[in-house]
Amino acid sequence: MREKIENLVRLQGIDNEARGARLERDGLRDRIQRLKDLLVVARRGLDDKAEKLGEASRFHREKDDELKADQEKVNRARGKLQAVTKNKEYMAMQKEIEALRRSNGTREEEILKLLTAIEEFKLSIAAEQEKIATLEGDVANEEARNATRLAELDARIDVRSKEREGIQAQLPRDLTERYAKIAKARDGLAITPVRKGACSGCNFMVPPQQVLKLQKLETLESCRSCSRFLYWVEPEKAVAAPEAA
Ligand SMILES: [Zn+2]
Repeated sequence: MREKIENLVRLQGIDNEARGARLERDGLRDRIQRLKDLLVVARRGLDDKAEKLGEASRFHREKDDELKADQEKVNRARGKLQAVTKNKEYMAMQKEIEALRRSNGTREEEILKLLTAIEEFKLSIAAEQEKIATLEGDVANEEARNATRLAELDARIDVRSKEREGIQAQLPRDLTERYAKIAKARDGLAITPVRKGACSGCNFMVPPQQVLKLQKLETLESCRSCSRFLYWVEPEKAVAAPEAA
């Protein structure tokens, strides 16, 4: 029984360490992922602005062509005006030219507004591009900065998992299955020492008869409140947490 309990305690130590390594690794990966997500959003924003700029530029070209066509009309009308001799016809033509001029004035205003909008889009695109470049730099830096640490953590998790297999092979299957079940239900802590007469997992007092059993090391005892496996350590040693062998 002593050997089984020792193996369970070693298993717990390995699991604790592997969990710490996994948490750190996942935290680092998450941070990089969050930066990448920001980059995706920024790139989408840039595409959106580029599309709007395209639309405004197309619209500007159309208006500009219309303006040129109308100016052409005014010029032609002026040319014809020279040849007109009848007063009535002359007046009608003058009116037409005036109308064209007014409509051209409106077009010119629209074109000016479009040019302003185009300028604003260009500025905001430049700002977005700058933001994206910064983010790309951040992602690259973060990846480079954490590459070594991530590799270390991966290696450590790998080593722990091999150690774990070795210990598991020495334990009866039903016991490792129980261990896994408790660990899953109890925040990864399946075996825990008795401290100051209580289960150190949930602080439930361990009855004296059970303490005796724990000291005898003949049976595998469980906490009656949280079901975690219990083991006995001499009080002066109970201060330190179990460590991986
Ligand atoms: Zn307990």
